[in-house]
Amino acid sequence: MTYLNRRSLLWGAAALGAGAAMGRAYAQAPSGPFKLDPLPYAANKNEPHIDAQTMEIHHGRHHAAYVNNLNGIAQQHGQIGQTPLHEILAKLSDVPEAVRTAVRNNGGGHANHTMFWQIMGGSGSEPKGEVKAAIDRDLGGFAKFQEDFNAAGGRVFGSGWVFVTVDGGGKLALVTKPNQDTPLMDGQRALLGNDVWEHAYYLKYQNRRPDYLKAWWNVVNWDKIDERYAAAKAGKLTI
Ligand code: MN
Repeated sequence: MTYLNRRSLLWGAAALGAGAAMGRAYAQAPSGPFKLDPLPYAANKNEPHIDAQTMEIHHGRHHAAYVNNLNGIAQQHGQIGQTPLHEILAKLSDVPEAVRTAVRNNGGGHANHTMFWQIMGGSGSEPKGEVKAAIDRDLGGFAKFQEDFNAAGGRVFGSGWVFVTVDGGGKLALVTKPNQDTPLMDGQRALLGNDVWEHAYYLKYQNRRPDYLKAWWNVVNWDKIDERYAAAKAGKLTI
């Protein structure tokens, strides 16, 4: 076994462990302008629909890797760390060609997951108030919207995301993206989205993505989505 492989295995073992081990993994990460915020709730908050181990690996390894990779890029290309991420992603053609794909993948991954943790940790139920009215108006009502969202997420081939975008007037639309692409790359804003990469559900659901998509609604935090909706209408939603 090579030294590198052995190191990866040891790091993996640490990351699979409890919170203290996760903290040690963070401490080893290269520093830089991009930060991995802690999960805004305990890793088991979304049980039984999304298991704690999936949350820990997803946040502490997958999302952490996107942040670490971005910081590595920022060390070579200083302007990457000095521009707000949503602005970088809206103008990828301005990013040096040598790192453009890496910025697209890791920057998109950082933005998508930052949004994703925020809008989970809730108790599901149903949208209310302005968001409910917007879903009724633009997406055919909550039941039809859930059905269409799950179907769209199910149709993503391989890895990607299903999003609801919101414009400055509060209008909603359903979109899917491959890989770590994000509506931010079209100058749009994501109100909410679900990650349909296998890493988001495979430990508990294996290949049963439709079951994951259906169960995910039980952990959606509509209060957070209300806040994002209000911020979007005020022109203050960035990521
Ligand atoms: Mn993910």
